[in-house]
This record gives sequence, C-alpha cells and structure tokens, in this order.
Amino acid sequence: MHPELPYPFLQRDPARGLCLSGVALAEIAAEYGTPVYAYSAAAIRDAYVALTTAFGDRPHRLCYAVKANGNLSILALLARLGAGFDIVSGGELARVLAAGGDPAKVVFSGVGKRADEIRAALEVGIGCLNVESAAELDRVAQIAAAMGVIAPVSLRVNPDVDAKTHPYISTGLKDNKFGIPIGQAAGLYRQIQRHPHLAAVGIDCHIGSQLLDVSPFAAAAERVLALLDELTLLGIELHHLDLGGGLGIRYTTEQAPTAAAWVDALLTVIDRHPLARRLPIWLEPGRFLVGPAGVLLSRVEYLKPHPDDGKSFAIVDAAMNDLMRPALYGSVMAIEAVQPAADTVAQDWEIVGPVCETGDFLGKGRHLPLAAGDIVAVLGAGAYGFSMASNYNTRGRPAEVLVENGAVRPIRARESVEDLFQHERPFPSPNA
Ligand SMILES: *Cc1c(COP(=O)(O)O)cnc(C)c1O
Repeated sequence: MHPELPYPFLQRDPARGLCLSGVALAEIAAEYGTPVYAYSAAAIRDAYVALTTAFGDRPHRLCYAVKANGNLSILALLARLGAGFDIVSGGELARVLAAGGDPAKVVFSGVGKRADEIRAALEVGIGCLNVESAAELDRVAQIAAAMGVIAPVSLRVNPDVDAKTHPYISTGLKDNKFGIPIGQAAGLYRQIQRHPHLAAVGIDCHIGSQLLDVSPFAAAAERVLALLDELTLLGIELHHLDLGGGLGIRYTTEQAPTAAAWVDALLTVIDRHPLARRLPIWLEPGRFLVGPAGVLLSRVEYLKPHPDDGKSFAIVDAAMNDLMRPALYGSVMAIEAVQPAADTVAQDWEIVGPVCETGDFLGKGRHLPLAAGDIVAVLGAGAYGFSMASNYNTRGRPAEVLVENGAVRPIRARESVEDLFQHERPFPSPNA
C-alpha cells in the first residue's frame, strides 16, 4: 500500500476503508457491482476552478477534451461550470449537444474529419474548426460555400517541439501526423483570408498529453507567437490563441505541475507580446480535469500465489478492455486495497484481468494485502479509462457512477451481453 494517497479527495477511513469524497468505495462496489468506475464531482469541479482561477480576470476559455471521458453527466457538469469543449468526431459533437453544451464554445480537432462531420459542425454553429491539413482546409471551404456560410477556422500548427512524453501521446513533433508544419501555416492563412467562406479566428496547437514539465508548452507558445507576428504583417487579425491541452497529472509518485504553474508558464510568454496579451487564451484540457477524479473498482476473483521464485497473480474482474492504459502505454497507475481484513498479509502481486492476452495487466509487482473477494481500486482512472474501454472478449463495459454531495448517482448502466450483440444478425440456417 502507498503510505500516502496521491489525491486529496481519497481518504482512508479506519471503519469504512477507502472513501471517495466521503463515500465508501466498498459500498459502491456492493451496490453497483464490479468493475465500476466512480468519479468525484467535487474533484472535477476543483480542477476546473483551479485552472480558471489561474487566469485571473484575463479572458480565456477552457475547452474540455471530450475524448478523456465523454459521459453525458460529466459533460453536463462541466457545461454548467461554463466549459467549452474540444471534440474529435461527430459523435462527440452529438454528446456535447445532448449534455447541454454550447456549440459556439466547441472547437473541433482531429486529422480526419469527414465531410458529414464538418457539415454537422457548421450547421450547429461550431465555435471553431481546428484544421489540420491543406486538404482539409479545401474540404471545409467547399462545404461552407455549398451551405452558404462562413466557416470559423484556426490552423492547428505543429510547432516541432518535444513534449517529452510517451511516444504514443506526443503530437507536436514534425514526424507526428498532427497539425500543419508551422512554416507552411502563413501561406494557408493567406488562402483563408482570400476565401469568401472562410474566416481565420485563431491559431491552435496541441503538443501532447501527460506533460510533466511546463517548458515544452512555453516553447510551443513562443513559436505560435512568431507565427502571429507573421500573420499580423499580412494584415490577418485573429481573435484567440488556442494552446491545447496536455497538462500531466500524478499517477503514483510523479511531481505534476499545478494548474497555476501551467497557466503562468504560458502567460509569461504571452505577456511579453503586445498583441497576444490582448487576445483571449483558449486551452483544451482533458486528463487534468477528470483523471484524478476517477477510480476503477474491481473484485479479486482468484489468487494464484507462487511460493517459490515465480510471480504471484491476483486475478481481478477488470481487464485491459475496461482500462487500457497499462496495456497500451505501459502506464503505472496506483492500486489500493479498498478494505483489507486486518489479518491479510501484504505481498507482491501481479494484478491481472481475465482477458486472454499476456498484456492484460492493471499493475505489476504491487505490494498489497489481498484475499479473494476483496475490492481493489485503480486510482487516477477518470481520464482515458472508460472512454477507451472496448468489448474485447465479449465483455460488457463497466457501469459508471458519480459521487456528489455524499450521494452516489449511477450515470451509466453496465452493458449486458444482449447489448453487445444487438447489432449482429445470425447467419440464416440452411433449413430456415
Ligand atoms: C487529446 C487532446 C487534448 C487533451 O489532452 P489531455 O492530455 O487529456 O489534456 C487536447 N487537444 C487535442 C487536440 C487532443 O487531441
């Protein structure tokens, strides 16, 4: 067990075990079954408030990156706080609208927007399309012309800075598929300027995810400001700068920057620039707002202790299909025993799921007091947890609950097996 819990709204109660914002996780597991994701509304709210407060009275917009966790209740909670949204598909646009989000505060990112997705975004009055290639810009222009509207666009530039994060979530290097090489951006902004159905509203960049150092953000901002100067000379006037998301969080023992450190690093660069300091700053935080707020609860099905030199396995009922980060990125996430019996002795366990893959693990070599039937909690599972879950091995995705003001609200039912094959059609039998 970790001597200290990495998140302030998790407490260990001597009688009730591990609690999330005052609610016993053992009770959630008993009532809703396992595996189940539980999120603290207060933790999400606190993260949002920390970030918005860091801007003081400077105009800004926080566009929550929906892909981190798109549950409608979480989107509604953030919409009520005033958040905008960063979407990467037409499906996410529909989610934001269903949750009561304001389309004018939505930015649409992603390298492969389909024509129907662009049309849907323009129909509802999207705030900004973050365009990622010259070919996409042509498509947006054609669609806007056909609809007789003016499309608000930013170019997502690739500043070629190293975010120093996992290669799968680094997006701001010239070898990554994302964005437009910053050297080509001015030429495309001139095309936008000349086109009757396009309006350049800002510059966008997003260099990666889970950054634990703020200096790459500052380096990217410097390059965006150099482009801003170039555009100003061309007579192109912009209305915001979107500096993306990517602020890292603490999973185990990392030192993650605070919201204030992130915003200060950006504003230190921006404040030196006479034009940029007057522009609203937009950010696209995902993980920072929801990651720490969530836990994944799972029950120990079997223990397979190996008394000699081999590893000992604790087989739990959550697997890589429920929480993919360890299998996909080799992520190390804290795991706690929720309410171990006093006489259970801690030892090193490989925490693994039932899926038929050796890569199916939640944690390796965890020193925990575990017995069959016990509940474990994977911490920091609010972002890229449920949203990356799949039905691999014909496993229904977990239930989700939101803890708010001491009450537990189910916000998504567990998928049933019937849910999983409802879209399939049995092959007709020959004698039918
Ligand atoms: C994923 C993504 C984000 C959010 O990243 P986090 O690390 O979750 O903050 C923001 N913007 C874009 C374009 C993204 O693809």
